[in-house]
Amino acid sequence: MSRQVYLAGKLVPAEQATVSVFDHGLLYGDGVFEGLRSYGGKVFRLAEHVDRLYESALAICLKIPLSRDEMAAAINETVAANEIKDGYIRAVVTRGSGTLGLDPNRCSNPQIIIIADAIKLYPQEYYDNGLELITSSVIRNHPAALSPRIKSLNYLNNILAKIEGMKAGCIETLMLNHKGEVAECTGDNIFLVRHGKILTPSLDAGILEGVTRNAVIELAAAAGIEVRECAITQHDVYIANECFLTGTAAEIVPVVKVDDRVIGDGRPGAVTRQLTEQFHELVRA
Ligand code: PMP
Repeated sequence: MSRQVYLAGKLVPAEQATVSVFDHGLLYGDGVFEGLRSYGGKVFRLAEHVDRLYESALAICLKIPLSRDEMAAAINETVAANEIKDGYIRAVVTRGSGTLGLDPNRCSNPQIIIIADAIKLYPQEYYDNGLELITSSVIRNHPAALSPRIKSLNYLNNILAKIEGMKAGCIETLMLNHKGEVAECTGDNIFLVRHGKILTPSLDAGILEGVTRNAVIELAAAAGIEVRECAITQHDVYIANECFLTGTAAEIVPVVKVDDRVIGDGRPGAVTRQLTEQFHELVRA
């Protein structure tokens, strides 16, 4: 069966799913996107992802030519057409094809693209033994330049941070914000555990409001674990008992070393393991 991509309102074979070289998503990164997961053919927290997509679009004055329900239906249709059970879905909305100038008013129609694919997880050893991070010299976007709350097609600063991390042998990289506080990683949110309490940067640290982050906060609250959304420094990371990352593709992944410093006892911690089990139950439900 050939892969089907949703493009311009219909499913087309992947080989025929092409966009114009004049699309401002390509020329200027003018667009927004979402990464979603399906478990057993059902998209996890679809409504939350669709809401975030529309909020990102609203923030860049991009009117998506589908209702939220129609977008959710198009995502489900793409998952079903590709017979994806446990998969990854990418929904992209670009400003559309225009002229060689910034003016978005010269773009004809926003372009909606939905791709459903197999999921590529981090290698199992990272879940078993934890991963190592460095702090990047590249900071997260200044919220007054481009709000990190917007999941836009401009990921270059995160990509530069990722390149820096990969050169140091790390597959994820910690990013600080413009105030020097801990923000998030290049594609994952960060959590710490200290004295049994969970700490995570608040949204005003200039981070993406992760769907997985929100699910983990709910799971922790339901398990009676206190969660504090607050300003976090590198010092807090270095003295944490546990550290883990959350993201749609990564789910929950333990971190055992940051900037060559061992976190806690250097093994994935008990709270991280408990939340991981709860998360697996949640996505299977
Ligand atoms: N932060 C950034 C910068 C991201 O790109 C992502 C998504 N890959 C996340 C955090 C995690 O968000 P979610 O749990 O919604 O995937």
